[in-house]
Amino acid sequence: MKGIVFPGNGTTVLEDFPDPEPGHGEVVVKIRASGMCGSDLHFYHGAFDFDRSVIQGHEPCGEVYAVGAGVDPAQATVGDRVMIHHYFGCGTCRRCRAGWPQMCETTPGKTMAVHVNGGHAAFTVVPVAALLPMPDGLSFEAGAAIGCGTGTAWGAIKRLGGVSDTTTVVIGQGPVGLSATMFAASMGARVIAVDVDDRRLANSARFGAGLVVNSRERDLAEAVAEYTGGHMADVVLETSGRAGDDALAVLGTFGRAVFTGLPGDVGFTTQAVYKKQWTLMTSWTMSSIEQARCADYVVAHNLPVDELYSHTWTIEQADEAYRWFDKQDAGKGVFLFD
Ligand SMILES: [Zn+2]
Ligand SMILES: [Zn+2]
Repeated sequence: MKGIVFPGNGTTVLEDFPDPEPGHGEVVVKIRASGMCGSDLHFYHGAFDFDRSVIQGHEPCGEVYAVGAGVDPAQATVGDRVMIHHYFGCGTCRRCRAGWPQMCETTPGKTMAVHVNGGHAAFTVVPVAALLPMPDGLSFEAGAAIGCGTGTAWGAIKRLGGVSDTTTVVIGQGPVGLSATMFAASMGARVIAVDVDDRRLANSARFGAGLVVNSRERDLAEAVAEYTGGHMADVVLETSGRAGDDALAVLGTFGRAVFTGLPGDVGFTTQAVYKKQWTLMTSWTMSSIEQARCADYVVAHNLPVDELYSHTWTIEQADEAYRWFDKQDAGKGVFLFD
């Protein structure tokens, strides 16, 4: 099979790999959709450390194709529609048991597309524990997005402790930010969607934003003050990694802010902000349990996750696909497989 590899210099290579075989406790998944995540670009350009020989793609979704020894039919059967939690830990420490293998306490852990092969290929092999069932009514494309980008927005809102009946500012309207806009609005927040590109803001109102602000054209703090009668935001989600100061500038007293964008640079002194009683936090993706809950929520609320995608590609188009995505001026892409 062919798989997309990043040499780390802003190019892609389509390489031949043997079709994977499932080992003990493993499952081969036939990929149906493999999403392009914003963090791919850090690897594409070699900004992060990773194994440059592995297949890319950490938003895989598909069907169980082959099952290894030691896998109980109740865990996985050929033909099951599955999402994948793309981190593999020891499986037994307290973090792994809580659904957080990326926080594994006993092993360095493995991440798809960083340490082991990912989903930008016709097949991938994963431990059975990484599989999550897909609710009826969820598309493979939506299951892929929930595997990282959309799931990151969900995880950040969960870490905030909820956003209902708040004014929530979502900075950055890429795949994570637009998902955050969608979730926050569906949970009853008044959402202000912010970006520097009108093409990215075009969907924000349709995804539930009550106010859309291009912060290159309009002073963001003024816009938020006007919208909130001077109270400013109860909640800020900073998803761009580039607007830490803007995030703090629009946060009201007792505000909560969560930062998911990388690399991110946020400066503050306690003296300057402690009388505002802020809660500031980061959030890194989500647990496997929350990934499954996110999928259930999307189906129950009939949310338009599929509409996050502006482009679909085949892996033969990898080069064009990543050159397009690298511009960061449009929506989200996904590689589809028959
Ligand atoms: Zn562990
Ligand atoms: Zn990602």
